[in-house]
This record gives sequence, structure tokens and C-alpha cells, in this order.
Amino acid sequence: MSRVIVIGGGAAGMMAAVAAAENGHHVLLLEKNEKLGKKLYITGKGRCNVTNACERDKFFENIVSNPKFLYSAFYACDNMGLIEIIKDAGCPLKVERGERVFPVSDHASDITAALQRLLKEKGVQIRLHTTVRDVMAADGQVTGVRLADGSTLEADAVVTATGGLSYQTTGSTGDGYRMAQMLGHTIKDCVPALVPVEIEEAWCRSLQGLSLKNVTLTMTCGKKQIYQGFGEMLFTHFGVSGPLVLSASSYYDRCKEREDIRFTIDLKPALSVEQLDKRLLREFEENRNRQIKNVLGSLYPAKLVPVMIMVSGMDGEQRVNEVTREQRQQLIEVTKRLSMRVKGLRGFDEAVITQGGVKVKEINPSTMESKCVKGLYFAGEVLDVDALTGGFNLQIAWSTGYLAGKSIP
Ligand SMILES: Cc1cc2nc3c(=O)[nH]c(=O)nc-3n(C[C@H](O)[C@H](O)[C@H](O)COP(=O)(O)OP(=O)(O)OC[C@H]3O[C@@H](n4cnc5c(N)ncnc54)[C@H](O)[C@@H]3O)c2cc1C
Repeated sequence: MSRVIVIGGGAAGMMAAVAAAENGHHVLLLEKNEKLGKKLYITGKGRCNVTNACERDKFFENIVSNPKFLYSAFYACDNMGLIEIIKDAGCPLKVERGERVFPVSDHASDITAALQRLLKEKGVQIRLHTTVRDVMAADGQVTGVRLADGSTLEADAVVTATGGLSYQTTGSTGDGYRMAQMLGHTIKDCVPALVPVEIEEAWCRSLQGLSLKNVTLTMTCGKKQIYQGFGEMLFTHFGVSGPLVLSASSYYDRCKEREDIRFTIDLKPALSVEQLDKRLLREFEENRNRQIKNVLGSLYPAKLVPVMIMVSGMDGEQRVNEVTREQRQQLIEVTKRLSMRVKGLRGFDEAVITQGGVKVKEINPSTMESKCVKGLYFAGEVLDVDALTGGFNLQIAWSTGYLAGKSIP
């Protein structure tokens, strides 16, 4: 039996503690907050999208950084395994659109409660209000942890599951990066991901509150396409947000020429240029003597009409029969390719996830053990792994936590 300390009582830490205790170890879970799983409470808008019930290949398609590193972890505890664990712990689950899995009760607190039951059942000792300052090691082997009050606790193995840097009020303040670095690990630069995006163009802000459904969003860096997705987005006072934008933001770091990053929206992806032209011609034919600003409402949401008129170089007062062929073509061009310049990402306080973290090359993917220090394990967001929305990020935390806990000899 080893003495195991798990730092961080989030999704990854709780799962690591359960898995290690199941293997017969004496486990102590240290959490700086007044309660466990503080971030879990706000996940999925308070409903906790606990995982995604998709096939294995689809799961890995949704991992943005280092999917291969996660193969063993997912094999050890995949989405179906997790669903069983949570259900067996007394929290029934349901599958919704996009195969997103939620508690039947729609309460994230029920997921935390289920894990707490497991922790109790397996005999994990929990200490709240306990901040770890450092992980201690000697001769390349973990020896324990030092707490913020200066006291020390001995251990044969330590699992660092301290999370990332986003929503810091939940306790994820990046402590694990510093601890890892002090023990010789490299930290891949941390950036916010799944985060809203700031846009240069002023007209964007006039659209604040407008939500677009069934559009295609393409992100380009110079001539290179970095991301393309179909779905929903939203205009805000600083730029854009919504599911498509959050997904695109996860690929922002792949753009090296920062001054030339653009979002292009296809407002009518179901229509070809020819079909759109026919539709416009029909609309124009039926409304020859009306002002253009009073006609385009049948094609675009009302808030968007003045912007479409402006960016396609028309005058709203202009009568439809005065619209030139070039102007009509320009309107079609803008409908298929409404382009805007990306100024940058919003900050960690608005980011769902942190991209970057402990370099996975320095971690054994079959055990989650550090290659720098024996007996030191990492799990969850502190690692340089992240995924798109849909329950994938929590599944990363569950899988890596489980594998770390199970791997402790
Ligand atoms: C608003 C929001 C909504 C989200 N919704 C979803 C969703 O629906 N589905 C999904 O899959 N993902 C979602 N995520 C992402 C998901 O929450 C994270 O991927 C996940 O919580 C990471 O788990 P973790 O255990 O690695 O880290 P965390 O959950 O961040 O847990 C880390 C824990 O470590 C503790 N800690 C840190 N430092 C110390 C220290 N020095 N000493 C002691 N304790 C310490 C912290 O207090 C914290 O409790 C969401 C994120 C946010 C911000």
C-alpha cells in the first residue's frame, strides 16, 4: 500500500483519488477551496455536460491538442466506462443533441455528489481549505508536498490535478504549472481557448445581440484555412461569440501571422451563388420601386440589413430598380463571404479551457507518470491537452485522472 496525495479536488483529482483508493492505496485528497468540484458546478451552464457518448474516432476528432497522448487514458476509462461509473454511483444520466451527456436532474451538483459518495466509499481522506505550495522530491523520487502554511506531508506518490488558468475564482490559478516547472518540467505556453473573439470592424458592434444560426464560419490566417465549422454564432459588444466562434478560438494559436487572421461567414451556405442570384433577382423583380433597405429583410435578420447594405457599397434609400448589376453581385459576394478581421482573443476569465500546460512528451502516456520525477503523476487540464465543447474536456479529466490513479504501484 502506497501513501498517495492528490492535489486538486476537481474532476481529474476526484477520479484519480477514487481510482488509487480502489487499488488499495491510502489516499489523501487536498483541495484549496471550501468544497470539491467548484468548477464542475458551473460546467454546462450548471447542468454539467459530463461526457460525450460518441464513437471512439469521433472522440479523438474533437481533441485539439495532443490526441495521441490520450489513447491509453481513454482506453483505461472511456466515455462509456465513465457513464457506468457515474450511474453506479447513483446519478442517472441522459444523452442529448450532439450526444452530449448530462445528469437526468440537470444539476451539475449531482455529479459532484456522486463522486463524493465514491470517495467516501473507497475511504479517501479529504482535506479542504488546504493549498499545496510545492511538491517535494529527492533523488528523482517524489517525497511529499509542502502546504501554504509551511507544513509538509509525506507521500510515495503525488497526483497533480490542479487544473488550468480559466475562471480563476473556481480555484484554477495555474499552481500546477509552477510546481511542475520547479521539478524540471517544461510548460507549453498557456493561452485561453474556447473563448470569445474580438473583432476589428466597428459594424460588428452594431450587431450586438444578433445570433446567426445555420451559418458557416471559416477562420483563415493569410491564405491558409485554419478552421471551418457550421452552426451558430453571436455578435457581442466586442466582437463575436457562440459555439462556432469558441471552436474556432481553439485553433487561433496555430496562426502565426497574427495581423492577418480573418473570420469569414457564409450567411447562406445552403444556396450556391447562382441560386442566391436567382433569389435576389426574384425579390428585386417583385419590389422594383421599393427602397433596398425595405426589401432585404426577407433575406437577412433586420439588424443585419443596414450592415449588408453598407458593406456591399449601396445606399439604403436607393430604389431596387436603381441597384446595378455590380452592386447586386457585391451583395452576393458579401452574403457568401462576410469578412472581418480578428483583433485577438478574450481573456482567461471568459475562457472555458486553457490551452498549453505540462508538455506531454515529459509524461508517460501509459501511466500519466512524469518522466522527470518518479512517483509524480499529472491529470486533467494541467496537461497540454484540450478539446472542443461537447463533454470532451471533462472526459479528458476523467480518463487521465483514472489512469493516473490506477497506475500508482
Ligand atoms: C464555464 C465553464 C463551463 C464548462 N463546461 C464544460 C462542460 O459542460 N463539459 C466539459 O467537458 N467541460 C466543461 N468545461 C471544462 C471543464 O470544466 C474542465 O475541463 C475541467 O474542470 C478540468 O478538470 P480538472 O480537474 O483538470 O481541473 P479543475 O476542475 O480546474 O480542478 C482543479 C482543482 O484544483 C484545485 N487546486 C488548484 N491549485 C491547488 C493547490 N495549489 N492546492 C490545492 N488545490 C488546488 C482547484 O481549487 C480546483 O478545485 C467548462 C469550463 C468552464 C470554465
